[in-house]
Amino acid sequence: MFNKSRFWKEIEKNGLDGEMKIDEPMKFHTTWKIGGVADFFYIPKSQEALKNIVLIASERDLPIYIIGNGSNILVSDDGIRGLVIKIAGTLDKIEYFDKMIKVGAGVILPHLVKMTIERELSGLEFASHIPGTLGGAIMNNASFGGESLANIVHKISLIDFYGHFQELDSSQFTFLYRGILINLSRYILLNAEIRLARGDKTKIITKVKDFYKQRKASQPLAFLTAGCIFKNPQEKPAGYLIEQSGAKGLRIGDAQVSEKHANFIINCGRATSKDILLLIEKIEERVEKNFGIKLEREINILGFGRTEYFDE
Ligand SMILES: Cc1cc2nc3c(=O)[nH]c(=O)nc-3n(C[C@H](O)[C@H](O)[C@H](O)COP(=O)(O)OP(=O)(O)OC[C@H]3O[C@@H](n4cnc5c(N)ncnc54)[C@H](O)[C@@H]3O)c2cc1C
Repeated sequence: MFNKSRFWKEIEKNGLDGEMKIDEPMKFHTTWKIGGVADFFYIPKSQEALKNIVLIASERDLPIYIIGNGSNILVSDDGIRGLVIKIAGTLDKIEYFDKMIKVGAGVILPHLVKMTIERELSGLEFASHIPGTLGGAIMNNASFGGESLANIVHKISLIDFYGHFQELDSSQFTFLYRGILINLSRYILLNAEIRLARGDKTKIITKVKDFYKQRKASQPLAFLTAGCIFKNPQEKPAGYLIEQSGAKGLRIGDAQVSEKHANFIINCGRATSKDILLLIEKIEERVEKNFGIKLEREINILGFGRTEYFDE
């Protein structure tokens, strides 16, 4: 059994560079504003600090969970037993080499797009209103309007849970629909090289605005959401299947299927992760019953069904 206070003392002894908290409410770190406490929560200041905490936790078999900006995750109301490492806002260096940029995994996409517009670089316009980090976006192969990260990411660097650093070129990983295939079990993305094209600033801005118009017309942007809940099956878009199954507007507690886009679930104020999960299960049931299609979840679920690791 793991001892929480002993681990905390070890952290203090190691003088880790970064922000470590005990029992941190995860609702502060998810776009749904939902989630119970994480036993340990850490924002590393540097790659070195990240490596140190990963080594300390791995040596002690403390479960490690990585989050970017929490814009595509559902965290249990019972929280997370283990260590959550947040990458958003840290590892946030952007380096420019003509049309190639090297970007830290913690850079938030709308900020990155702003920076590339200033340098008249085109290729990232589709990501201008995706509220995640580059790291989270690579893990999900984020896309919009037919464009995705898969087309522009050429190299990634990562660190595995044993502290080994690796740089992989595009022949060593494969982008999938909402995912990436890397021959490693557990790792943290550190940065990526992205190849862009020279573009005209006005045209780039127009493209960003067009993408935003499309998004505004189809997504419930004024509400707390976590993006799309399900991947689109080959047969039809998930939103269509959900709507045709009569689940649009369906509500459990304060969680509601969006009236605007049925593949989004809104937190109407006090939704719990249990409300959301029940709603997800209800949608899955209805779509399977009506169309015989098993929807695959796009959101990442953290903390459900975890056992206690600690003897306090
Ligand atoms: C309003 C709204 C609109 C959205 N629109 C889109 C859209 O158009 N297209 C789209 O594809 N998505 C969209 N999303 C979903 C989401 O923003 C993206 O998938 C985003 O890329 C997730 O990034 P994140 O940093 O928030 O990742 P998180 O949600 O924090 O994490 C997602 C997954 O990535 C892993 N992860 C995160 N960072 C790292 C890292 N550095 N190393 C290893 N693993 C990591 C996490 O463990 C988790 O499994 C939208 C979400 C919202 C709320």
